[in-house]
Amino acid sequence: MRLTIVGCSGSGPGPASPASCYLVEHDGYRLLLDLGNGSFGALQALADPATVDAVFLSHLHADHCLDVAPFVVWHRYSGRSTRQLVPMYAPVGAERRLALAYDADGEGLTDVFDFVPVGAGSLELGPFVAELARTAHPVECYAIRLSAGGRSLVYTGDTGASDAVVELARDVDVLLAEAAHPDVPDLPPALHLTGREAGEHAAAAQAGRLLLTHVPAWIDREAQLADARAVFPASELVEPGATYDV
Ligand SMILES: [Zn+2]
Ligand SMILES: [Zn+2]
Repeated sequence: MRLTIVGCSGSGPGPASPASCYLVEHDGYRLLLDLGNGSFGALQALADPATVDAVFLSHLHADHCLDVAPFVVWHRYSGRSTRQLVPMYAPVGAERRLALAYDADGEGLTDVFDFVPVGAGSLELGPFVAELARTAHPVECYAIRLSAGGRSLVYTGDTGASDAVVELARDVDVLLAEAAHPDVPDLPPALHLTGREAGEHAAAAQAGRLLLTHVPAWIDREAQLADARAVFPASELVEPGATYDV
């Protein structure tokens, strides 16, 4: 299984990275996790959009889904799309929400996507067995565990401290975890993880490796990393364009 970071800027695009988008590949199958603002541009430097087999959206906050619009434009007008429907796994309401993000008529995107509403539980995504767990976030959001070829990856989506995410990540090889909150007092609950909390989740789950992502442009990345490493030494910050063998 191979993971490529398309975009990793938290809460919106930053000067050095688009918002959230990750390409996961196995056995020639290509799955996109989230399509945040700016990510479709970066994606084109990493993979031919025609070869994306399916899309999973963790939730419908703008920084995780708004580049569905240029993805649709590309499929409709580039002349390079195979015109096969792309399975779109996303929380209930995605079809309507994304249609309205595309245009005010909200005429629909079903000429490009086959919308599959998701919930907690398991499903098959090409060669992957996928398990989803609801996270601690103000809107319906799912963390996803992908297993294939005896290896496993968990992507947290957006979450505050969550036992469900720890359980989903139990013994995972790679935990790709958000770390959006700085270590300051009086943080709102059930929203984001601090660097330390991301490390604590990795340690509690006995993950093999922690990849920190979704750090907003206005937050000190090195501080997030230091906070995570203090409790889970096998932590690193992801970079746009980086590839990891899971
Ligand atoms: Zn986010
Ligand atoms: Zn969010």
